[in-house]
Amino acid sequence: MTSAPTGPGAPTYDVVVIGAGIVGSAIARTLAGYRLSVALLDARDDVGEGTSKANTAILHTGFDAKPGSLESRLVHEGYHLLGDYAAATGIPVERVGAILVAWDTEQVGNLPGLQEKAVANGYPHTEIIGAREVYRQLPHIGPGALGGLTVPGESIICTWTTNFALATDAVRRGAALLLGRRCTGVTVAEEATVLHTSAGDVRTRWVVNAAGLGSDVIDQHFGFDRFHVTPRRGELMVFDKQARPLVEKIVLPVPSAVGKGVLISPTVYGNVMLGPTAEDLTDRTDTGTSEAGLEFLLEKGRRLMPQLLQEEVTATYAGLRAATEFSDYVVEVDAEQRYLLAGGIRSTGLSSGMALAEHVRGLLAETGALELTPRDDLPDPPRMPNIGEASLRPYQDAARIADDPAYGRIVCFCERVTAGEIRDTFAGTIPPTTLEGLRRRTRAQNGRCQGFYCGAEVAELFETRAAAVTAEGQAHR
Ligand SMILES: Cc1cc2nc3c(=O)[nH]c(=O)nc-3n(C[C@H](O)[C@H](O)[C@H](O)COP(=O)(O)OP(=O)(O)OC[C@H]3O[C@@H](n4cnc5c(N)ncnc54)[C@H](O)[C@@H]3O)c2cc1C
Repeated sequence: MTSAPTGPGAPTYDVVVIGAGIVGSAIARTLAGYRLSVALLDARDDVGEGTSKANTAILHTGFDAKPGSLESRLVHEGYHLLGDYAAATGIPVERVGAILVAWDTEQVGNLPGLQEKAVANGYPHTEIIGAREVYRQLPHIGPGALGGLTVPGESIICTWTTNFALATDAVRRGAALLLGRRCTGVTVAEEATVLHTSAGDVRTRWVVNAAGLGSDVIDQHFGFDRFHVTPRRGELMVFDKQARPLVEKIVLPVPSAVGKGVLISPTVYGNVMLGPTAEDLTDRTDTGTSEAGLEFLLEKGRRLMPQLLQEEVTATYAGLRAATEFSDYVVEVDAEQRYLLAGGIRSTGLSSGMALAEHVRGLLAETGALELTPRDDLPDPPRMPNIGEASLRPYQDAARIADDPAYGRIVCFCERVTAGEIRDTFAGTIPPTTLEGLRRRTRAQNGRCQGFYCGAEVAELFETRAAAVTAEGQAHR
């Protein structure tokens, strides 16, 4: 991992991207493809610790976006960019498809309009189907469905691996990763902008603000007051793998004026997810679940798929959307202050992130103030460890185990995570710094026992490896 000094003698970067979520990591990766010195800075001690780690993990086609909006264009483009990138890097994706299910005549009446909207959003592949076909494709949904709209391109993806792949790629292209640095103030001067952070000042010519829930506060540091973030909590329930045969496709509600509604979706780890809720909060850190939220989900689930509620719930979690007073993304450049804002990336940033990065590159190029010369010495994209169920996992790979028995030694039995995979994360470009970080890289402790059986061994392996990485770091100083 690249860490950079702060204080006297510290470098002045060409661009610092604030926020190492999916959006910031994608932007840093893109800009590091040019002859620029780039840094990716985050308040947290790991990448992907914000909204990007807790969402519904659907790679959206953008069929239901607002036609003509920036979000519509970027989700549409991002869908293809991330799909291709996932194939190149090994990010788990399953092309399961979705069906919007209509439960009353009003919803049935809305389906043709949704189909037209999909076409306007560049997605012509939907089909309106009757109740019989809905039940043929989704035999386990509850009684009373009257029809549906198929969206065959909607896919499920691993949001964690997406974030790690983009950040890893950025670092391998030479970007410095500045973690544990909360930006608390900004001084813009002609020669350089100084970002005041919790771990010292960072100097840069340009700043890209991709700080998600904190993006309006950073924007205020640059003297703006153009939008405000309202954390919109989405709570989700994860059902045990036994439930997966019930749900072959994403079951979507017909969207209403108040949002996309509650869905049921398979996950790339072999579980089933029910959610999310949508509740505006004031606390930008409140990612806890609530009794009312989970009750609401159970109520919805009972109608959508009663059989699902007979399965065990493995986990519950919540993520916070960075909602604003605007329905669209807020992406604007201020050439005078050498500053670009990528804000209001509320509920589609996983899908659109790579296209957003291209859009940001275009806006920066248009200013004429930042020279963007493509590099001809770029490393290949990283090949990420597979933590999805659709491809061969290390414990299933006889040749790999014969070569290295550590891949045959399962440590986390619920999720079949091996000692070899845990070891490998510490040799990666961005090693984990916490058990939670290890979980997102390997799935260890993510299963039905939630670490009850493997917790002690996983913690011991983590501590031993983390200590070795620290000792190695000190020896190199
Ligand atoms: C419940 C839910 C379901 C969703 N489902 C989907 C889905 O199915 N498909 C989809 O495409 N999208 C979905 N989304 C949206 C998607 O998750 C987000 O749009 C995306 O993760 C936003 O990424 P980001 O990089 O902008 O923000 P984040 O991931 O939040 O990253 C921002 C980073 O900025 C850092 N930061 C903030 N302030 C500062 C500061 N002052 N100094 C330094 N660092 C700072 C934070 O620590 C954080 O790491 C969903 C969101 C939610 C909440």
